[in-house]
Amino acid sequence: MSLKKVAILGSTGSIGISTLKIIERFPKKFIVTALSAHNNVSLLEKQIKKFNPKYVALQKEKISDLRKRIGTCRVKIFDSGSEIASLVNRKDIDIVILGIQGRAALEPFLEATRCGKVIAPANKEALVMAGDIIMKEARKHKATVIPVDSEQSAIFQCLEGRDKSELKKVYLTASGGSLKNINQARFDKMTVNQILSHPRWSMGKKITVDSATLMNKGLEVIEAMRLFDLPAEKIEVIIHPESIIHSMVEFTDGAIIAQLGVTDMRIPIQYAMTYPKRMETGLAPLDFVKQKFLTFQRPDFKKFPSLKLCYDVARKSGSLPSVLNAANEEVVDAFLKKEIKFSQMYKIVQKVVRRHKTIKNPNLRMILESDRWAREQTRKEISK
Ligand code: MG
Repeated sequence: MSLKKVAILGSTGSIGISTLKIIERFPKKFIVTALSAHNNVSLLEKQIKKFNPKYVALQKEKISDLRKRIGTCRVKIFDSGSEIASLVNRKDIDIVILGIQGRAALEPFLEATRCGKVIAPANKEALVMAGDIIMKEARKHKATVIPVDSEQSAIFQCLEGRDKSELKKVYLTASGGSLKNINQARFDKMTVNQILSHPRWSMGKKITVDSATLMNKGLEVIEAMRLFDLPAEKIEVIIHPESIIHSMVEFTDGAIIAQLGVTDMRIPIQYAMTYPKRMETGLAPLDFVKQKFLTFQRPDFKKFPSLKLCYDVARKSGSLPSVLNAANEEVVDAFLKKEIKFSQMYKIVQKVVRRHKTIKNPNLRMILESDRWAREQTRKEISK
């Protein structure tokens, strides 16, 4: 394997930090060409000094602070708000790790597909919004999309080399989130910090709230539909609290292939970077005997109505997933700022989704317009 040049978008988040750990272990295989962060200047400064990227991107307001901190370091600085596409399309980037959360990933994702790069998306929002367009562009420009989201990576690995016409269904596993064992009547009494303490995975705030509502799993249903070109009916969510099986696929003959492993994002990230090869990760192996049990439950759609809502949206598709995603990003933000209660998140998202007139086969402009409309509607509901 020749030296691969890597761009990490969202380098100061949990995916970015894990990616840099992998690169540190394999200095002869990977080199960091570009880093982008939202506003964590002090960590970005450390990363620049350690990894010496050619390019970095950061929120406009923070750029002068960064310049002062890095002094004579020779690095070209981009505004992460308006110039991220011109960073992604550089010739000296082979792999783009998409570790940024939310809608902000859409533009760099599309640009990377148009440049035919290897793209490793940990972000699901962009695929939920415009997955059909992204995957079409990827095919057209021979870009390779290798998912990093652990469930999608598992499905990707289980489907490798198989004839998809023989696929019966996909089991998308879910840990159940931080509220799995909490009575629904107590949801609104939980503090933001309690919601943010996920039993199995350590992740960013938005995705941890989404795990608590099971919205994360619902978004993953739509993400899987786009990545693997599947109808919603072929995707079944199953609660698996141990999070050892990262997802599985069932074929027409009843054979099921699962991907298992310890809960560490370095495995799917590294696989996306070394694909189709594998390399050791240095992680402790899974101990089956110590693990003892792998358990499963059906999801409770009454307790977690967001999951049901996602299935409804997935079946209708068109512009509706972009509305669902936009409304959800806004309510999660409001919940984290303590502007609304936990249960209001679902109620508001449902209201906005119902209000939307779905456009079939929307183009990118229509998707962005639906996104803008949904955010405006959602913010109105939040301030009520
Ligand atoms: Mg996931």
